[in-house]
Amino acid sequence: MQSKTEPNPECNEVKVVSESAAATLKRNRLDFVHEVEKLPGGDKILECIQCGVCSGGCPTRYSMDYSPTQIVKMITLGMRDEVLSSYTIWKCSSCYTCTSRCPRGIDFTTLMMSLKNLSLKENKAKSTVKPKFHKGFDDIVTKYGRLDEALLLTKTIKKSDPNALMHTASLGMRLAKKGKISLRPVKIEHTADLETMRKTVVGGKKQ
Ligand code: SF4
Ligand code: SF4
Repeated sequence: MQSKTEPNPECNEVKVVSESAAATLKRNRLDFVHEVEKLPGGDKILECIQCGVCSGGCPTRYSMDYSPTQIVKMITLGMRDEVLSSYTIWKCSSCYTCTSRCPRGIDFTTLMMSLKNLSLKENKAKSTVKPKFHKGFDDIVTKYGRLDEALLLTKTIKKSDPNALMHTASLGMRLAKKGKISLRPVKIEHTADLETMRKTVVGGKKQ
C-alpha cells in the first residue's frame, strides 16, 4: 500500500503534462506578441495599460464581438486564432479615434489593418462581405494605382451577393450616364513606384 508521504505517480504525471502545456502556452503567447510587435501599428502593444479609452470612443464597438481593449489583451495573452477570426477587426471603420486618444500612443487603427491582412492571408476571417471588400480594394489599388469605386462595388457584390448584381448594374449605368462614376478603370502611369512604396512600408512582401 502506498505511503501517504510518497509522491503519487499519477499526480506527478498530471504535473508534468500541465507544466509542458504551460510552457507551450507561454511560448505561443510570446510568439504572437513578437509577431504583432513587428506588424505596422503593433510596435507598442505591450505598453497598453487597459484604460479602455479606445473602446469608449469607438463608434462601431456596438457591433464588435470583442472591444478594442479586449483585442489588445487577447494579443498579449497569445490568443492568435481568436483575434484573427474575430468580427472586431472587420467592424473597425479606420476612423482613428482610438489612435488619436490612446494615452500610450498605440496605433490601434493601423494594427487593425495589419490584422485584417494577416487574417485574409491565413484564411481565418469568419466575416463574409468585409474581407471581400478589403481584398478587392487591395487588388484594384495594386493593379491600377488608384481606387475605382465602380469596380470595387462590382467585385464585392459579385462575390457576396450575385443576385444583387443586376440591380447594382442598373444603378451603376444611371450614375455613369450622369458622369458620377467611370465604368472604365483608369491606371496611373507609375504603378511600379507604388509597388516600391508598398515594399518600403511592409518590408518587401504583400501581407
Ligand atoms: S486606449 Fe491605448 S492604453 Fe488604453 S486600452 Fe486602448 S490601446 Fe490600451
Ligand atoms: S479606428 Fe476602428 S477600433 Fe479605432 S475607434 Fe475607429 S472604428 Fe473603433
